[in-house]
Amino acid sequence: MHFGYNEYDNRQRRASGMRGAHGGLVSMLLRHPRILLILVFLGFGVFKYFGSTEKKENPFTGESVRVALKPEQEVALGLQSTPQMIQQFGGELADERQQRRIDQIGQRLLKAKDEVLRRRGIDDFDYPFRFHILRDNQTINAFALPGGPVFITQALLRQLPSDDAVAGVLGHEIGHVLAWHSNQRMAQSSLFQSIAGAVSMATDDPRIGRAAGQFVGQFLQTKYGREDESQSDCIGVQLLMVACYQPESLMDVMEVLQGSMKGPRWPEMLSTHPFPETRKKQIVEYIQFFRADPFAEWDASDGWN
Ligand SMILES: [Zn+2]
Repeated sequence: MHFGYNEYDNRQRRASGMRGAHGGLVSMLLRHPRILLILVFLGFGVFKYFGSTEKKENPFTGESVRVALKPEQEVALGLQSTPQMIQQFGGELADERQQRRIDQIGQRLLKAKDEVLRRRGIDDFDYPFRFHILRDNQTINAFALPGGPVFITQALLRQLPSDDAVAGVLGHEIGHVLAWHSNQRMAQSSLFQSIAGAVSMATDDPRIGRAAGQFVGQFLQTKYGREDESQSDCIGVQLLMVACYQPESLMDVMEVLQGSMKGPRWPEMLSTHPFPETRKKQIVEYIQFFRADPFAEWDASDGWN
């Protein structure tokens, strides 16, 4: 019978296919279920990454990036996390004069940001930026939350020799917010987790597997972390120059950071931030670039490191 014949033929073809080019892979996977499991795990991470995130062009950097949150969600998350941050660093410093000072410096930088965007015909990219001084007088640190809250510790503020250096710190933090850095890293985190999980499954010894998985996950995170820092330095330099602050003051900031990093350090490859020495060299390049035209766009097609 024709029908029967065809059916038989198909099965034949499928059976012989199993032994062919694809068959090698299929039977290999069947013999090694762990590899199949690893692939499923990786596939899940990739699926989640592309399914739950959105690719959008960033109005300030011009880059197309994957993000997890919409702007209003970023703002909500930032506002929600602000009290916790403040509490972790000993509360807010009740010093009206210093608060006025960082508010003024911050506003001048934000006007520069608006000016850069205006020249590109964009007038609707903004976040409710707020500048907070944290009372902590031991920890040299500054950071930004998604959607606009920017923090600087009293310890760091005290060590900065000039308004220009304070502007250097705030401009860099504004850069993190504008470039959607936290938002991008949130989008990647489930992907990195599944890569780390897949690596940890690839070995027989669960302890070695876990360590290897953690290492790979951390390696990816720190790689992107360093790129974010370089990009924020670049944005910071541009904002400083458009706002008529001295961008060279960033060297003073790097000195302060270098001074706070005494003792043994992780290799740069495993650090979330490039070393201050590396950043200094990059900052010199950014200054030269924006000195020619403060409104130019830095071409990052070769990457940020
Ligand atoms: Zn940073």
